[in-house]
Amino acid sequence: MSFKLDENLLLPLAGNWVRGEGPDMPLFNPADGSQMGVLKTASVAQVKTTIAAAKAAFATSGWATMNPHLRANCLFDAVDLIKQRADHLALLQTKENGKTLTESKGQVASAAGIVRYFAAVCETLTEDIAPARGSYLTATMHEPYGVVAAITPWNSPLTMAAQKIAPALAAGNAVILKPSELTSIVSIELVRCFIDAGLPEGLLSVLPGGPDVGNAITNHPDIHMISFTGGTETGRRIAEAVAPRFIPTIFELGGKSPNIVFADANLDAAAKGVTSAIFGSGGQSCVAGSRLFVEAPIYDDFMERVKTETAKIKVGDPMDGSSNIGPMASFSQRERVENYVQIGRDDGGKVTIGGTRPSGADYEQGAYYLPTIIENLSHSSRVCQEEIFGSVLCALPFDNLDHVAEMADDTAFGLACGIWSKDVTRAWNLGRRLQAGSVWINTYKQLSIAAPFGGYKDSGLGREKGLQGLRAYQQSKSIYLGGFTS
Ligand code: NAD
Repeated sequence: MSFKLDENLLLPLAGNWVRGEGPDMPLFNPADGSQMGVLKTASVAQVKTTIAAAKAAFATSGWATMNPHLRANCLFDAVDLIKQRADHLALLQTKENGKTLTESKGQVASAAGIVRYFAAVCETLTEDIAPARGSYLTATMHEPYGVVAAITPWNSPLTMAAQKIAPALAAGNAVILKPSELTSIVSIELVRCFIDAGLPEGLLSVLPGGPDVGNAITNHPDIHMISFTGGTETGRRIAEAVAPRFIPTIFELGGKSPNIVFADANLDAAAKGVTSAIFGSGGQSCVAGSRLFVEAPIYDDFMERVKTETAKIKVGDPMDGSSNIGPMASFSQRERVENYVQIGRDDGGKVTIGGTRPSGADYEQGAYYLPTIIENLSHSSRVCQEEIFGSVLCALPFDNLDHVAEMADDTAFGLACGIWSKDVTRAWNLGRRLQAGSVWINTYKQLSIAAPFGGYKDSGLGREKGLQGLRAYQQSKSIYLGGFTS
């Protein structure tokens, strides 16, 4: 029997659970194409009342001025609720975006860890006192901005939302979450954990809907900060819209990350690492290692190893524990991937594995696509330059360190990179040289909530995570207290 979502799902808006008054949005399960239900989205009028309520909650609820350790209590309670509801949250994410249930369970645990981290940071927050330069005390205080709009994509809705909601609330702000159209339900259920943990009414709301809802939020004068994760072109549109208001923004955008393999690398480990770097989550990861550069003398041998690893990947029902990857998150996402593979072929690329949908009755109804490797392309080709956000790896040989450094940085993006070599000094120096916000040496996609994350160039602006991930949601005020005699 196909999975059904709760048709009567209410939205947490302005301190109440209410019915959305915007257009109906049908929701499809990418694993089998079935319609899971219809979400009543928020209307533009509801955007206005919700932001007004958030502004009022920020001004009057006492959250902004509450001692941080008391705000932490509420966040710790939210952690407990996320853990208690882990199975439900994981199931919803898998049904909405096709991630395997195993991965979704991992992401629920990760979301709980993110909230716990920012609750702990909140507990230990300090204000600053600068060294005296006269007979006055200089204290620098950190204050919230007001109403923060958090806008998230569909690929990892639980962790992306937790990564914004937790630090923004910990910093004392009110938050409006605008989730992706594809993953509204799981986002609402995550927010329910925060609300049930006892947040003041109206402080946190979810406004599901399409770009019209997004536009109405970002153009509203009472939004005091925007934290956006999504595509580079959407980010650019938002940046243009908010520039005249001088409000702070965080942009976590797209990527086309290089994975570089030198001849002296541990080739078994590198082949496994390169394969999971691109094909994990079906390539629908901002940091996916989508451009592979292999030192020329080992190119043929190494590509055989990568193809052997790729052939082991089991594409299948995301609910089945033996599946490594599920379908693409939507049918339009699969179409995008198929279009890019065709462009690659037209540009002279040679598809050496995949390049098609899997065959068989199990796959017919879902948005499945096989992990695909394209070789023989010029690095200037579209497939090597544009973010596909799907399970497509392009592979190229390189001659020497300068050659690969030049190619790796020859992209508009700068989110991440991987380097595989036993010569750690060379790898370290190359990592320092490349334009990327995260560098992995002899590993890939290891992420710590304690380390800042973000992109160079068109991959973004600002950083999330880490201590500065909380400070990003605050502005500082320096107070000079005079009257001292020495
Ligand atoms: P998207 O840009 O299409 O949408 C992201 C969000 O923005 C959605 O909620 C969408 O409804 C909203 N939106 C669209 N138009 C808007 C507008 N005019 N005003 C306000 N909001 C608007 O991205 P997507 O397809 O959901 O996600 C995939 C993209 O996200 C990829 O490019 C991927 O690299 C990127 N991503 C980046 C990171 C990171 O940390 N750098 C992480 C995950 C995903």
